[in-house]
Amino acid sequence: MPDNSQHFVIVGAGAAGLMAARELARAGRRVTILEARERCGGRICPLPASEFGYAADGGAEFVHGEAPVTRRLAREAGLSVRTIGGAQWSFDGTTFSRENPREPYDERLHAAVKGLTEDLTVAEFLRRHFAGPEHARLRHAVERMVEGYDAADPARASTLALRDEWMNDGHAIQARLDGGYGGLIEFLAAECRKSGVGIHLGALVTAIEEVDGRVGVRCADGEVHGCDRVILTVPLPLLRKIALPAAAREKAAAADDIGFGNVIKILLRFTRPWWHEREGLADMLFLLSDETIPVWWTRLPDQHPVLTGWFGGPGTAELSHLDPQGLIDAGVDSLAAIFSLPRGEIARGVVAASATNWAHDQFARGAYSWATPRTRAAQERLARADGPVLFSGEALYRGRDMGTVEAALASGLETAGIILQRWRG
Ligand SMILES: Cc1cc2nc3c(=O)[nH]c(=O)nc-3n(C[C@H](O)[C@H](O)[C@H](O)COP(=O)(O)OP(=O)(O)OC[C@H]3O[C@@H](n4cnc5c(N)ncnc54)[C@H](O)[C@@H]3O)c2cc1C
Repeated sequence: MPDNSQHFVIVGAGAAGLMAARELARAGRRVTILEARERCGGRICPLPASEFGYAADGGAEFVHGEAPVTRRLAREAGLSVRTIGGAQWSFDGTTFSRENPREPYDERLHAAVKGLTEDLTVAEFLRRHFAGPEHARLRHAVERMVEGYDAADPARASTLALRDEWMNDGHAIQARLDGGYGGLIEFLAAECRKSGVGIHLGALVTAIEEVDGRVGVRCADGEVHGCDRVILTVPLPLLRKIALPAAAREKAAAADDIGFGNVIKILLRFTRPWWHEREGLADMLFLLSDETIPVWWTRLPDQHPVLTGWFGGPGTAELSHLDPQGLIDAGVDSLAAIFSLPRGEIARGVVAASATNWAHDQFARGAYSWATPRTRAAQERLARADGPVLFSGEALYRGRDMGTVEAALASGLETAGIILQRWRG
C-alpha cells in the first residue's frame, strides 16, 4: 500500500514539477505544488493564438532529437508532433547562401573531438586545435553554435558535452508540437488535479526550514506549508534566492558548476510572408546572420507569416538596456539590414509582436542550462536524494540534450522514481 501520509511539496509548476507531481500523485502520495507565477508552464510560455494566428511559443518551441519522454507524453495527451523541414540559409553581410548541411571543415572538427581523452572548455579546444587564420571560419561556426544554440559561453562550456551535437548532427530531428508546448502543460496540469494535486499559483517560495524532521516551506505572503519532503524545480539562478537549511545549501552550491545561459526571443507576425518574394527563399526555415538579432526562422511547413528572431549566449548582455519594444525595434532593424529593405516598410507590415529577454523574467533569470567540464559531477551531487530537500529540473538532466523540455520532463520523472523507490511507505 502506498503511504498516503507522506506529503511532498514541489516548488515550481514547469515541465519538471508537473511531471514529478503527476507520478507521485498517481502512486498515491499527497502532493502540493507552489508556483510563483499566475500560470503553469514556467519557461514554456504560450502566446495568444488570437494575436499570432496559431498557439505561438514565447519560450520553448522545438522538440529536439528523439525526446522519448516528450513524445510519449504527447501521444498520451493526443497531441501530434510534426517534423519540420526546410533549408538553412545564411547572410554574410552582402549575399545569401544556402548552407551546406555538411561543412567542409566537419571532418577536421570530428577528428579533433574524437581524439579527446579529457574534457576542456570549447575556447581552449579551439586554441589547441584550430588556432591559425586558416581555421577562422571553423572557429566562427563553432562559437556561433555554442553561443547561439546552446546559449553557452565558449570560455566555460564543456567540449565533451557538445561532442555529440557535433558528431551526430544532434540538431537533426527537429519537430514541433501541433498547438505548441502549451497543450502538454495543460494536459499535465489537468492530470495532476485529477490525481488530487493541489496547485497554488502566485505562491512565491522564499525559504525552506527544517524543524524536528519536518519541513516547512515558507512563501512571500507568510504562509508556511508543512511537508515531509520538498522538491525544488526552480531555474538555477533562482535557487540562490531561496533560504535553505545548511545541508541543502551546501549541496545547492554544486549548481555553480552548471552553466546557465540567456536567450532573447522575438516573434513578428506580418500581413504577408514578404521574404518569399526574394528569389529562392520560399523554402527558408532558418536564416543565420551576424546582425544584432542574428538568427531567424519561419513557421515552415506551416504558412503563417511569422518570423521568429533569436539571440542567445553571453552577448545578450549588450542588449540588457532594451525593453520589449526596444528589442522589437532591434529585430526590425536586423531584418532591414539582412534584406536591404527600408525599416519603415518592414515595421508597417508587423501586425503582432512579442519580445522577451529571458534574463529579465523574474522567475527564470535566463533561458536554460549548459554543461561545463564540472557539470556531470555537480549533477550527480544535486540529484542525490539524501535529505528532505531534493532538486529536479532541466539542469539536472544527465542525457545529451540538456536545457530542453525533454530534459525537464525526464528529470521530474527520475526524481519521482527515486522517491518512490527510496520511500516506499
Ligand atoms: C526562450 C526559450 C526557448 C527555449 N526553446 C526550447 C526549445 O525550443 N525546445 C526545448 O526543448 N526547450 C527549450 N527551452 C528550454 C525549456 O523551456 C526548459 O528547459 C524547460 O521548460 C524547463 O522546465 P523546468 O520545469 O525545469 O523549469 P521551469 O519551466 O523554469 O519551471 C520552474 C518553475 O519554478 C517557478 N519558480 C521560480 N522561482 C520560484 C519560487 N521562488 N517559488 C515558486 N515558484 C518558483 C517558475 O515560475 C517556473 O514556473 C527554451 C527556453 C527558453 C527560455
